[in-house]
Amino acid sequence: MICPNCKKEIAENSNFCSSCGARQAEGAAARRFGPKRLMRSSTDSKIGGVCGGLAEYFDADPGIVRILVTLITIASGFVFGILSYVVAWIILPLAPPQFYAETSHGTVGAGPVASSH
Ligand SMILES: [Zn+2]
Repeated sequence: MICPNCKKEIAENSNFCSSCGARQAEGAAARRFGPKRLMRSSTDSKIGGVCGGLAEYFDADPGIVRILVTLITIASGFVFGILSYVVAWIILPLAPPQFYAETSHGTVGAGPVASSH
């Protein structure tokens, strides 16, 4: 596939361009390989990323999802909501981090290492 931002060839089904880091068309790859998976968000996370993941899955506002989850938790007497959150936190896979997060540590430690030879 081609990145619409920098026009470079990038790996199929990647969510972010490996050259410029631009986010690729929402769910374009996921639709090709079936329904998108419900995952915890690694980028939009207040506690465990469950609400952010739900928001991404339903294309909803993460704030709205958090308000709904909070209201359901309060309305259900807390135990159900908190248990659901913890269960989701354990079961749901964590979405892969964004590209720039992966590359940010690529140059870390590449300081002036003197060769002892
Ligand atoms: Zn690009």
